[in-house]
Amino acid sequence: MATTRTAVGPMRVAQIPKTGGDFQIVEREIPNPTAGQVRIKVQACGVCHSDVLTKDGLWPGIQYPRVPGHEVAGLIDEVGPGVAEWKVGQRAGVGWHGGQDNTCPSCRRGDFRNCRNLKIPGISYDGGYQQYMVAPVEALVAIPETLSDVDAAPLLCAGITTYNALRHSGALPGDLVAVQGIGGLGHLGIQFANKFGYNVVAIGRGSETAALAKKLGAKTYVDSAATNAAEALQKLGGAQVILATAPSSKAMSELINGLGPNGKLMVIGATFDPIEVTPIQLITGSRTIQGWAAGTAADSEDTLRFAELSGVRPMIETYPLEKAGEAFARMMSGNAEFRVVLTM
Ligand SMILES: [Zn+2]
Ligand SMILES: [Zn+2]
Repeated sequence: MATTRTAVGPMRVAQIPKTGGDFQIVEREIPNPTAGQVRIKVQACGVCHSDVLTKDGLWPGIQYPRVPGHEVAGLIDEVGPGVAEWKVGQRAGVGWHGGQDNTCPSCRRGDFRNCRNLKIPGISYDGGYQQYMVAPVEALVAIPETLSDVDAAPLLCAGITTYNALRHSGALPGDLVAVQGIGGLGHLGIQFANKFGYNVVAIGRGSETAALAKKLGAKTYVDSAATNAAEALQKLGGAQVILATAPSSKAMSELINGLGPNGKLMVIGATFDPIEVTPIQLITGSRTIQGWAAGTAADSEDTLRFAELSGVRPMIETYPLEKAGEAFARMMSGNAEFRVVLTM
């Protein structure tokens, strides 16, 4: 079947020229998909904290210049040879899971999420901070009709990570589930936890976010600056799960004593500092600590469908592609409420 080439002329791209370099807005030729790939006309791309891995070269082997972005929503505008299941004009996105090798031991067991050679858009290949991007079909996520591009984009990393971590946490409806941190991840985690039927405790620093946390679905708000949050959780019976979203190992360590019997600290806020825990803390009550990373394209589709069904939406601030540097700085400041999204 002949492919449709609707894109002409150069496109605008926000690229990082070298490790630690500032964003550059440049023109490039529009890329063409090869076998097993499609080209997406990007409509929106979320700015995730993990984009700092590309900006500052914190991931091994990044080739520069590199276009960051792994929260991509758009329209397929060309399909490569051999691609039958995706059509030109179809809405599609790409998240953190940008492709797998299908041959490593994890892939051979069907555990694509933990592929040893996982490809990540914006790291392994150019991501969504551009008008057009090329992606392999195994990374593609169908976007439901009622979700806008700017709402869908952040759900493909921040959304899927909180949704997937919670649904695999073992918590059952009615269980006490705490969400630590009310930010880019946490504001989605509170909403999903509420819609899953958990008894949701939001843990933040200061009293300013209490009203918002309750609006998002928390039954209880704990101000960890004013009270001992672990003790507060024990007074409520102990948490079955604590979803740790704020990137503070110290704050996570301080919460472990808030876990109830068989409770689990589910870690998704990424830092390089150690979490401190004693064996006694884990042995008492058979507590566990687990990390979780995003999920596959199929998991992303589950996330989007659940968001469509339940009304979970990210809170966003949008910037045009030309202001990618400003948008990135806004995200890094920690003051954005809550996800920053580039529009093309
Ligand atoms: Zn991300
Ligand atoms: Zn693999």
